[in-house]
Amino acid sequence: MARLVRYKALVTAIVLVTSEVAPFSKSGGLGDVCGALAAVLAVGGERVVTVSPWYRTHRQDARDTGIRLEIPLAGTVHVVAVHHRRIDRVDHLLLANPLYERDGLYGDSGGSFGDNHIRFALLCRAAIEAVRWVPLPKKPLGENVVFHANDWHAALVPVYLEALYRPLGLFRRTPTVLSLHNPAHQGRLPAVLFDDLELAPRWFRPSGLEFHGDLDLLKAGILQADQITTVSPTFAKEIVSPGGGFGLEAMLRHRAADLVGIVNGIDDAQWDPAVDPAIPARYDATHLEGKAACKAALQAELGLEVAADVPLLGSVGRLDPQKGIELLLDSVPWMVDQGAQVVILGSAAAAHARFEHRARELQAAFPRSVCAWIGFDEALSHRVEAGADLFLMPSLFEPCGLNQMYSMRYGTPPIVRRTGGLADTVAPFDLQTDSGTGFQFERVSGAAFREAIWRALDLWSADPAAFARLRQRGMTQDFSWAKAAPAYQAVYRAAWARRNPG
Ligand code: ADP
Repeated sequence: MARLVRYKALVTAIVLVTSEVAPFSKSGGLGDVCGALAAVLAVGGERVVTVSPWYRTHRQDARDTGIRLEIPLAGTVHVVAVHHRRIDRVDHLLLANPLYERDGLYGDSGGSFGDNHIRFALLCRAAIEAVRWVPLPKKPLGENVVFHANDWHAALVPVYLEALYRPLGLFRRTPTVLSLHNPAHQGRLPAVLFDDLELAPRWFRPSGLEFHGDLDLLKAGILQADQITTVSPTFAKEIVSPGGGFGLEAMLRHRAADLVGIVNGIDDAQWDPAVDPAIPARYDATHLEGKAACKAALQAELGLEVAADVPLLGSVGRLDPQKGIELLLDSVPWMVDQGAQVVILGSAAAAHARFEHRARELQAAFPRSVCAWIGFDEALSHRVEAGADLFLMPSLFEPCGLNQMYSMRYGTPPIVRRTGGLADTVAPFDLQTDSGTGFQFERVSGAAFREAIWRALDLWSADPAAFARLRQRGMTQDFSWAKAAPAYQAVYRAAWARRNPG
């Protein structure tokens, strides 16, 4: 108790370091999660500061603080202009630098940017320096903060603190938390790039950044952070299991005592069919007439036959092998054969452009039944969640996943593979006990996926009353961040206790 009181008295702010934070930047779940977590922690009484790049492609208004941070990296001094905007009690620091003046967050049509290690090392160094120098509002935060680094882009925060600052007597008691939102991406790069990071040679060792002869930024962060989180309990178990940790399972097992899985919440103000301005008609768990109107409007918008008695299967997300996109695309002709309509909203990174072509080909082959909407369209994603009858998410792995929660909230039961956060958030439908919120399958196979779709379609057409109850159970689940916030606060306290023993 005395320690908790000391933690509360001493820790002045949680500093979320992230490559994406909504509403400023978002390419996937990371931006949503960091934006929402910051807001809910602030509501819970924490002082929260986020630090992220001020990307040219996602620029929103922010005030220039006038502070210029000079960061040496790759043999040059990079000048970072710190901008600030306060939204809902969260202070967002946005870092302006020519390295973020690109046509994409991580890459463009030519692929990933070759200097991403410098771009994100800059984020990490600048985040630490911002805490030292930016007056918020009157004086800098100082060392009594908790750094919360997210994914490989921010994984060098604990490394730089240990390598550059603590030897000088700085930040010795400042704890770090590293969150793994998607450890498939690790910042694994050729060893020759190590010199760009301005770290002493001793950091290129297995106890530092070296990993099988390469650089691995995430691995180095895993070794250095005081506490580690990932985004669902099942995924936390999977990543320490043989073959489940994307090569990092031994490192993660080594840190297993400090690793916890916390399911993401959703922004339930933004994702609420009762008030959502992005959908054509509003509805809730007791008044579902609006959902039928949303379906008809979506069918019309997408050029599909407008018919209430034709099941509409929706999917939203990156067209990426992780998402089971091959299972999905391979099964589309079968879905059409079952009399269903299919909408696929998504886009692919340059390396996976073939999935965009295949999706378009399917639309060309079945123009009345299939719509492939290639691109990123936030408002349309709401209309798909609202207008579809069932939601498809056959991910090969899924740390947490957000879309399955959005779809349940919108009365669109999801069909998911039983993995990671999908296993933790979607309860399998059971006719005997009239329980569950969606449909699961386990084996990575088109046949297993189609069998689950078949069960869902069968219930939809043969037993509308049971389907309505299934839908209603999903709509009344609590997916709010209010549940996750105390779990993160417990992690911050554990990290603080580790750095401040006694
Ligand atoms: P991931 O972070 O692995 O991409 P999640 O399910 O956790 O997957 O989160 C994806 C987020 O990005 C959701 O908010 C989803 O609605 C959104 N999203 C992904 N692709 C698109 C798209 N093409 N258009 C609109 N929203 C999209």
